[in-house]
Amino acid sequence: MPSIPLSKGDKMLYDKITKNITRFYSETELCSNVYLLESEGKTLLIDSGSGALDFDFAPDRCILTHAHFDHSLGVKDAWESVLLHNADIEYCKAVPAYLARFFHLPGQSRQLPEGKMEFGSFELEVVHTPGHTNGSVCIFETRSGILFSGDTLFADGAIGRTDIGGNESQIMESLEKISKLKWPILCPGHGPIEKSTE
Ligand SMILES: [Zn+2]
Ligand SMILES: [Zn+2]
Repeated sequence: MPSIPLSKGDKMLYDKITKNITRFYSETELCSNVYLLESEGKTLLIDSGSGALDFDFAPDRCILTHAHFDHSLGVKDAWESVLLHNADIEYCKAVPAYLARFFHLPGQSRQLPEGKMEFGSFELEVVHTPGHTNGSVCIFETRSGILFSGDTLFADGAIGRTDIGGNESQIMESLEKISKLKWPILCPGHGPIEKSTE
């Protein structure tokens, strides 16, 4: 098991969502939430942050919800398994110059398959949800009912912006798609976690 880094003032805060899922976040830097999933001695990160959060272990796997730098720049060279949707890998190879500074593709990135994937005791369903970026994904942990929504959907129904390599009609279709998943807990790419009261 990795040693959970201590909270470093307001730079690296964390809270437990379940026994084996932790959120790390910063309130001072432009940096995504990072979710640590731990099972059977293995670790998986959903997003890596911008580098403002400094992890003292290499996760066994890292899944990026998309290739914006505030989610992907925290990936370190030593991390062997880094996965993101092929549409964002391709986009990064031909990113328009005026948007290039918003994207970062870690060199070791490999294609993230859609559909179900087992990781220890977790069952993760990768759902392609283009709109915020072409290769944005949401990840549904079917056993706990947690939806990791990246920058597609935030608490209070806020919707991700579509002006940094995105598409507005696509994000509306993607929101329709994930509305069919019944998620008691929403874990977005930024801001607070939302628990459904239904
Ligand atoms: Zn973001
Ligand atoms: Zn983003």
